[in-house]
Amino acid sequence: MPQYLEAAERVLRSGRYINGPEVSAFEKDLAETTGVGYSIAVSTGLDALRLIFRAYIELGRLKPGDEVIIPANTFIATFLAVTHCGLTAVAADIDPTYSCLDLNKLPITPNTRAIIPVHLYGNICWEHRIMSELSKKGILIIEDNAQAIGARSSTPGLKGSFTTGSLGDAAAISFYPAKNIGAFGDAGAALTDDKLLADKIRELANYGAHEKYQHSSCGFNCRMDELQAALLRLKLTNLKNINDQRRTAAEAYDRLIINPNVIKPTIARDGSLQTWHQYVVRHPRRNALRQYLADNGVGTEIHYPVPCHLQKCYSDNPLLKTYTSLEVSEKLATEILSIPIADISLQEIQIISHLINIHK
Ligand SMILES: *Cc1c(COP(=O)(O)O)cnc(C)c1O
Repeated sequence: MPQYLEAAERVLRSGRYINGPEVSAFEKDLAETTGVGYSIAVSTGLDALRLIFRAYIELGRLKPGDEVIIPANTFIATFLAVTHCGLTAVAADIDPTYSCLDLNKLPITPNTRAIIPVHLYGNICWEHRIMSELSKKGILIIEDNAQAIGARSSTPGLKGSFTTGSLGDAAAISFYPAKNIGAFGDAGAALTDDKLLADKIRELANYGAHEKYQHSSCGFNCRMDELQAALLRLKLTNLKNINDQRRTAAEAYDRLIINPNVIKPTIARDGSLQTWHQYVVRHPRRNALRQYLADNGVGTEIHYPVPCHLQKCYSDNPLLKTYTSLEVSEKLATEILSIPIADISLQEIQIISHLINIHK
């Protein structure tokens, strides 16, 4: 904590709160950590995604009506970013092993122009062969890396790198406080190797100004402030530790939970590295298990209880399309339960695993 207070004091005393040296330094650190050419620090993960799509529209690479494939089980922000830009969100089903887009069953149509692999729970949604074929067809690949900062894919990205956030054409990160790298408030970032795209995102995030008071697009105000950037710079130096702790916890659960009714999340053995943003078990009577754990003092969550295509905001919304069955997403939504994984001790893991094991 003392080093955070020190950083905060430095910013408060500087009198510079927006567009200053802390943001530039953080952007440089983040680009290095994720292995991309450009990182743009912004206000939230949703804004990062939205700015990427808006920038592609401004650059003439996407236009209203174009279809963007999105996994049905993701946080609603992934869908909102697309439909806020007037693009069509096509909900696609997930694979039951990693809960990410099922890349073998993508609902590709002649209107497909982009796809959002969401690295859900910190699992990696990437398969080099499939993604490069899509890319060759001109389909943009925009990673939602909100839950997977520091993850590694087992197969290379479009430009040969392996770190999530650098695999496709552009990526969004969220620094919402509960994410693996959490800000002290809201924050996010967009990543890309494409200079034109990066410049356009930066411009759009700053009222559309390419220089002060010169506005070449009708932009927004989506900037990260100096205080968050200074604090996030410190957090980022701890990324490996934070992810390692979660991985150790996941491996302990994997050893200790032996209830035959519980399906544990799959630990990848293909050389990839997950970030374990969530540890999500499945149980046919999930609500009963959740209540039982709550009765025993263990708080749990459901990520996410209602698949996006079934949310009220998309009932009757012409920007939402479904072409295929979404049965895996719909079934898993009734079975999944996220058990504690952040800042947890081995003793707590033992207690929670024991509670789960003695539950029918
Ligand atoms: C958190 C999250 C977002 C949105 O990020 P915010 O910073 O909360 O706006 C988007 N997608 C996924 C998968 C997320 O988990």
